[in-house]
Amino acid sequence: MKKFQVILILATTAVFGVLAQAAGADQVKAIVGATVVDLYGDEPIEDAVVLIEGEKIIAIGGAATVDVPSTAEVINADGTWLIPGLMNMHVHLGLVLPGKLEAELANETEGELVLRMAASAREILQAGVTTIRMPGDQRHGDLALKKAIAKGQAVGPRIFSAGEALSISGGHGGRGRKQTYDGPYELIKAARKEISAGATWIKIAISGGIATDGGEIAEALMTPGEIEAVIDASHRFGAKVAAHSGSSAATTIAVQAGIDSIEHGYFLDREVLKLMKKNGTWLVPTILVSQPALQPFFEEIGSPPWYLKRRDSVAKHHWRALEMAIEEGVNIALGTDQLPSAPTDGTTATAREAQYYVEAGMTPQQALRAATIEPARMLGADDKIGSLETGKYADIVALAEDPIKDAKALDNILLVMKGGKVYRNHLGKQE
Ligand SMILES: [Zn+2]
Repeated sequence: MKKFQVILILATTAVFGVLAQAAGADQVKAIVGATVVDLYGDEPIEDAVVLIEGEKIIAIGGAATVDVPSTAEVINADGTWLIPGLMNMHVHLGLVLPGKLEAELANETEGELVLRMAASAREILQAGVTTIRMPGDQRHGDLALKKAIAKGQAVGPRIFSAGEALSISGGHGGRGRKQTYDGPYELIKAARKEISAGATWIKIAISGGIATDGGEIAEALMTPGEIEAVIDASHRFGAKVAAHSGSSAATTIAVQAGIDSIEHGYFLDREVLKLMKKNGTWLVPTILVSQPALQPFFEEIGSPPWYLKRRDSVAKHHWRALEMAIEEGVNIALGTDQLPSAPTDGTTATAREAQYYVEAGMTPQQALRAATIEPARMLGADDKIGSLETGKYADIVALAEDPIKDAKALDNILLVMKGGKVYRNHLGKQE
């Protein structure tokens, strides 16, 4: 093909791209007839009208108070319940777990990795998840995908990412060929490099973990000096810090040093949970990883015996830690450590995680908050996402049943809208 033809095609595409976007932005959409669920226990809005212009909600209220413009595209959601798009705060799109998967993906190229991530990102939207946080992924495929989604070149949720996780030699994620960092200076330098590559979070592994045989899960493996240095250096650039931790001792050091979120918390005791509550530290439980609902998944991927043993060793403590965290009123943001859309116990990993929170002591409404507005608060993005309000992004999910009555309602997702665009529409198809 001659050079000018290529340029012409590119130019034409660019123009149509802009026109298409402009047309989409001009037409107001109106979701009508649904009940808007209240996240805080106030009365829901029945027979609601949600007006959307471009990517944002421009009005929301009862049919008697919000007029639907005659030119609006009307989406009839009669008999459904509207909630904000779900948010999952612990997602590794490039996840490789020990077992068959590891062997299959041993020679995965960067191109293959990013395409695998992109395929998962598309599925995630189908599960009603419109925002994810990626606490450590591979080879910056996460940052590439985030940019591509923001530009409209790929389809997927909003992404907040930590780039690559920082591990110490011999620790969680720090064995084999993986790059490791030891001492405050190496960790500071690594954190700054992730931030300059586009990470808005930094992920550190401060105790052992289930998925790698690096050190004990309940031990504080990273030194206080290392933890304090990396948190300080990251905060100076406005990046938040998440710590993989199964250990009360490691978590205590990190919380005192101002860590933003603790991931998993397998062996957390009441004392450290009280400290987290006092300091406003977030817990992302990923309870799914140690509980029975995932057993078939681990069998299917051929997890080796040592892995299953490590998983079993935390199950009871992990559950108790979650119960105590709920009792103490610790800030909790939902995260699965599984693909958010992964089939789990007859539903998705995200819905099952929320339902486990209810089994551990939350009300369905609290669990819904842990999957929407609470993650938005943790991300510092609650002025833009996390609830259905005028001026916020139109990230909206319609359910067939009332999630305040029963968290099982999250199993039946009829409509998914992200930034005013519909990605799933099964309205009118329900029984
Ligand atoms: Zn993880």
